[in-house]
Amino acid sequence: MVISDSNTRNGLHHAYIALGSNLGRREKNITAALSSLESTREIETIRVSPLYETPAEGGPADQPDFINGVVHLRTSLSAERLLALCQRIEDLLGRQRSVHWGPRTIDLDLLAFDDEIHSEPNLTLPHPMMHERHFVMKPLADIAPDWVHPILGETARSILEGLGRRDWMKDLDD
Ligand code: ADP
Ligand code: MG
Repeated sequence: MVISDSNTRNGLHHAYIALGSNLGRREKNITAALSSLESTREIETIRVSPLYETPAEGGPADQPDFINGVVHLRTSLSAERLLALCQRIEDLLGRQRSVHWGPRTIDLDLLAFDDEIHSEPNLTLPHPMMHERHFVMKPLADIAPDWVHPILGETARSILEGLGRRDWMKDLDD
């Protein structure tokens, strides 16, 4: 959907969502999730990061590599409704919730929603692990280097710098 700039002050929120896939046709899963988000009436996609291939961190050993990216959205949905939509899209794309941190066709994590801070188990914002994860901070810093973490008070660029370089991350556009 296209929402004009003049609407930004009329109850529209800025959200960042991390996308990840390490099962099946990984890039296709990411693209399908992006299309589902974009085709939602209340959502406008502002920017999609480059996609990166990264080895799985945590969870069972010997999982396939992930493809990861981040999307910046503008939406009239609340954070709760946006997360519920992400979970519906995960289900539609055939995600099985069997193994914690196990392989998945698609994972959509809500990283941040305006400056909101939530601490419910079902919705923690900003995402509690985002600032430790290179595969999240790299694509986020690509599209929003000046975004400020509402708890840490640090920009995406500065958090990424603190994590150091990861040469094993492969930019799929290169
Ligand atoms: P993970 O992403 O940690 O591998 P899941 O995608 O299976 O695990 O999500 C597990 C739970 O995390 C979900 O029930 C969801 O309600 C909760 N959750 C809490 N905060 C968030 C958030 N910011 N983004 C996505 N899920 C979240
Ligand atoms: Mg998740």
